[in-house]
Amino acid sequence: MTPMMGAAEVRAAVASRQLSAVEVCREALDRIAALDPGLNAFRTTTAERALARAAALDARDDLHALPLAGVPIAIKDNICTKGVETTAGSRILEGYRPPYDATVVARLEAAGAIVVGKTNCDEFAMGSSTENSAYGPTRHPRALDRTPGGSSGGSAAAVAAGMVPLALGSDTGGSIRQPAGFCGITGFKPTYGRVSRYGLLAFASSLDQIGPMARDVTDAALTFKVLAGHDPRDSTSIADRAPDAVRHAGLDGLKVGVPRHLLDGPGVESDVLAAFDVAVGAMQTAGATIVEIALPHASHGVPVYYILATAEASANLARYDGVRFGSRADDAGSLDEMYARTRGERFGPEVKRRIVLGTYVLSAGYYDAYYRKAQQVRTLLGRDYAHAFGQVDVITCPTSPTTAFPLGARTADPLQMYLSDVFTVGANLAGLPAVSVPCGVSSSQLPIGLQFIGPAMADTLVLDVAGAFERAAPWNGAA
Ligand code: GLN
Repeated sequence: MTPMMGAAEVRAAVASRQLSAVEVCREALDRIAALDPGLNAFRTTTAERALARAAALDARDDLHALPLAGVPIAIKDNICTKGVETTAGSRILEGYRPPYDATVVARLEAAGAIVVGKTNCDEFAMGSSTENSAYGPTRHPRALDRTPGGSSGGSAAAVAAGMVPLALGSDTGGSIRQPAGFCGITGFKPTYGRVSRYGLLAFASSLDQIGPMARDVTDAALTFKVLAGHDPRDSTSIADRAPDAVRHAGLDGLKVGVPRHLLDGPGVESDVLAAFDVAVGAMQTAGATIVEIALPHASHGVPVYYILATAEASANLARYDGVRFGSRADDAGSLDEMYARTRGERFGPEVKRRIVLGTYVLSAGYYDAYYRKAQQVRTLLGRDYAHAFGQVDVITCPTSPTTAFPLGARTADPLQMYLSDVFTVGANLAGLPAVSVPCGVSSSQLPIGLQFIGPAMADTLVLDVAGAFERAAPWNGAA
């Protein structure tokens, strides 16, 4: 396996026995051992478990029936893996070994994928740079003084550096797409409810969604097929009988909406705008019609997101009390002191900020002014998208206003950090499928991401369009 082999290629080589799963697994583990000390993309590796599973796989005679036979995969550390430490980047979960696998992990393993490790992330997926991890930041594989993005930065760096062909991330407000964009890979956030959240450590339950991070769109689509499907263990999981809204595969005749008014605001780097315009030009050349659309409430996306996400987080994180999961403060004199010290000492500053903010917006005197109002604007934002999809098949915009920023550049200013989510939070608030694909590099050779957003349940359409773009675009996915 060369470092640049994608999941589909690895799977074909393993299924046809050109490569053994053990050989592939060993190479991935070797590369992690060689590269990770400089990147900190992994929290844990699972060498023994992985090699044993790979050997068991090699002994089977039905490899052709397994869509991910022998493909090494890294799992974001906020997704439960049975018996393997799962911390979500937090001290409070240090030593926590879940007694069960997340549904996505079980599905991947049933499809023949080999889990080689858990990846670093911002604490409880709160952040855009992995700098909120209690275990140190991950570094960008192409520029070690920069962030790979976040919160799924470890997964993005692991794929971009060629340590694994595939990884899972979670996306609450952009955490799959933004790091994919920063690192020059493909990241897909499915329609809310298409992929089970059972075993995902909840951040904001109405927004969280798990999805693939891969070298190209083919691999992301292959993985999505394995992940998607109804799960009775997740009450928000969409029934399988729901049809996949498929239109057609190409760019020819496709109507692509561009919310130009969002791009004019300050803060969008000129290199990002230039790359976006080239990308739109490439779509037109391939036969797409570009339609300017309006998303009148999109400018409220970031504040609405940070009210709702913190409100949900404040409730979800109440369960970490030192009793049920992970670690506990020692020597507390009373139960109250144990709660207070466990949470006080083991949650990081960003998590505490969000618990306080979320509790505030839900509190009696402020609920109407903040939480209820944000829910109302969320509805309006959803209507903006529904209206736009009456006119166009997909919407495109940059994934992020900037390329990967230097480590430390935004840590002192949370608002600045939050603004990196302006183009991504909309898809979460409206529950829509959205993908980030590479669309070239900046003048300093940093990758730039392009996003396609589709109507709910049009996951296949979004991936097909992204695949057509990847083939049509001059940079051909390999930024
Ligand atoms: N950057 C956003 C936040 O900090 C999104 C995180 C995510 O998608 N998990 O909340």
